[in-house]
Amino acid sequence: MTSALPSLIVLGPPGVGKGTQAKRLAERLGLEHLSPGQLLRDALASGRPLEDNVRAAMAVGELVPNEIIDRLVQERLEQLGPQRGLVLDGYPRTQQQAETLRGMLARLGRLERRPVVLWLEAPREELMRRLRHRAAQEHRPDDNERAIARRLELHESKAPSLLATLARWTDVARIDASPPADLLTEKILNTLRERAAAGGGATSVGEQPMLAGSSRRPNSGSMSWAAIPVRDELPPAS
Ligand code: ADP
Repeated sequence: MTSALPSLIVLGPPGVGKGTQAKRLAERLGLEHLSPGQLLRDALASGRPLEDNVRAAMAVGELVPNEIIDRLVQERLEQLGPQRGLVLDGYPRTQQQAETLRGMLARLGRLERRPVVLWLEAPREELMRRLRHRAAQEHRPDDNERAIARRLELHESKAPSLLATLARWTDVARIDASPPADLLTEKILNTLRERAAAGGGATSVGEQPMLAGSSRRPNSGSMSWAAIPVRDELPPAS
């Protein structure tokens, strides 16, 4: 049955740890990880021809045009095996992308189970600390001061309308992402288990109240998070 395939959407500001958590969740839950940002970086690194405006936009922290990102996501979604659930990482970032995604998931029969949005949040000083650390380790061309400031600003300006749009057709869980990565993964998995136990929409998740509009809904889809096998339990976080 393709109808109850799980979809997780991991969103949040740059530096919050979306990529790390999305990868781990995909591994632990046996889902496909789809990160448009990483796909773009891979394409640029491999020298594949990409429109000049894509490279330019990324370098200064601007969003890549919707039609490019949407096409990339659509291609990947269409390639997914019919039994494969997914973790979307860093997509959608705008109201328009959210609407496009909803259409794509509906057409592919992936909306029967209400997707869960993990909206990761952390104080700005913590984001800056993590981004500086990443800049030293990974040398991403967009981890310079100006591009970071622009990415943060864009995130903040798009967040309210994006959240409002997503809350209409997903369950949004706002999660305090300040704990260290291992602990955060466990916290997110607990959030998913709690939601399953509560029958598809706990009133509170982690330390943050659920967003209005994402509350309990008699939706068979989200029940089955509990049934997803969790692989390779990580050692307890220190
Ligand atoms: P971060 O969230 O830390 O900025 P990502 O790897 O998710 O890192 O994204 C890096 C860059 O890729 C973004 O600054 C943007 O230029 C581009 N990008 C990624 N996802 C999207 C998206 N959904 N829409 C438009 N551009 C995107």
